[in-house]
Amino acid sequence: MARPQKNAGLQELEQRLARQDLMLQTLVRLLLEKNVIGREEFAQWLRYVDGLDGKDDGRLGADTGYKSCAKCDRTNPAKVFKCQYCGASFPDNIMLTNDG
Ligand SMILES: [Zn+2]
Repeated sequence: MARPQKNAGLQELEQRLARQDLMLQTLVRLLLEKNVIGREEFAQWLRYVDGLDGKDDGRLGADTGYKSCAKCDRTNPAKVFKCQYCGASFPDNIMLTNDG
């Protein structure tokens, strides 16, 4: 059976996904093998970040953007009300709730 031809967009997406997968695998292995974080703590963080979009479904919502904290300049998901690193409030998120 002949394989169906993939269009260029799909091939590009697959290549980007494979590169991102490599980066993630490298980062996770680095964190674990350098003992920066343990497996259980990593799993806890994974569940926490998964839930930031309001759904514990093993992925981030498609509309999840990111923003920088004005206080510590670290990157946070756009929907959080407080910086997950330093705890600074994001008052604009409280004012701009357009999703319910
Ligand atoms: Zn911060």
